[in-house]
Amino acid sequence: MYIDSHCHLSFPELTSQVEAIRAAMATARVEAALCICTTIEEFPRVHALAQQHDNFWASVGVHPDSEGVHEPTVEELVTLGRLARVVAVGETGLDYYRLNGRSVADMEWQRERLRVHVRAARQLGKPLVIHTRSASEDTLRILREEGADQVGGVFHCFTETQQVADAALEMGFHISFSGILTFRNAQDLRDVARRVPLERCLIETDSPYLAPMPHRGKLNTPALVPHVAQELARIKGLDVEEIAKVTRSNTRRLFSLGLSTAE
Ligand SMILES: [Zn+2]
Ligand SMILES: [Zn+2]
Repeated sequence: MYIDSHCHLSFPELTSQVEAIRAAMATARVEAALCICTTIEEFPRVHALAQQHDNFWASVGVHPDSEGVHEPTVEELVTLGRLARVVAVGETGLDYYRLNGRSVADMEWQRERLRVHVRAARQLGKPLVIHTRSASEDTLRILREEGADQVGGVFHCFTETQQVADAALEMGFHISFSGILTFRNAQDLRDVARRVPLERCLIETDSPYLAPMPHRGKLNTPALVPHVAQELARIKGLDVEEIAKVTRSNTRRLFSLGLSTAE
């Protein structure tokens, strides 16, 4: 059995077909998924998915790329984070990839937003879901300054270097690999994945984006997460069932997911 540790079932591409996706998940032995929030406006829909289905869970947070949206305070995040079936704070982090003519100095609002999320996660005692792109130094620095090691979490959809992976692991974070791991041009990432201890690895789809090979370019859903596991198994020279078992138990432990089945 597999768990998709990061998907966006509340996005319009997927939300209309949740029942079909759930059937495909069952066929593919994907037993659970963590539905990730990207704006406070979206949170009620993310939370509803987790309330309506006992194998979906929710996070609460505002993605660094979300602009012109409600900017939550620590208190607001803590209030939402205390609701039933909310197991993580995020996705939050820094993204300097699309500066749209601005400088890194202009992105102070993103750094402040990240600080607010770490403070909320610490108050809640819940793990962080971190998104970082073209901003790893600042991301790591702020996580250190805010004491994120107190709660840990995951660097999701990891595409960074070995040094960034090592720094994240040292802070007690997990590393989550997406379908990017299966892309032909991702050899550097596969080299990093080989060296991340399996006990700290998670797998995810980040659906509806980033469908793994051989579905690249098509609509992604949590039912495709076994392709990520298969690639991780190939890289590490392990059986895919071992990857499934360990990443599943890592995800359950990190997010304190109560699943009824024993295996
Ligand atoms: Zn992300
Ligand atoms: Zn995401």
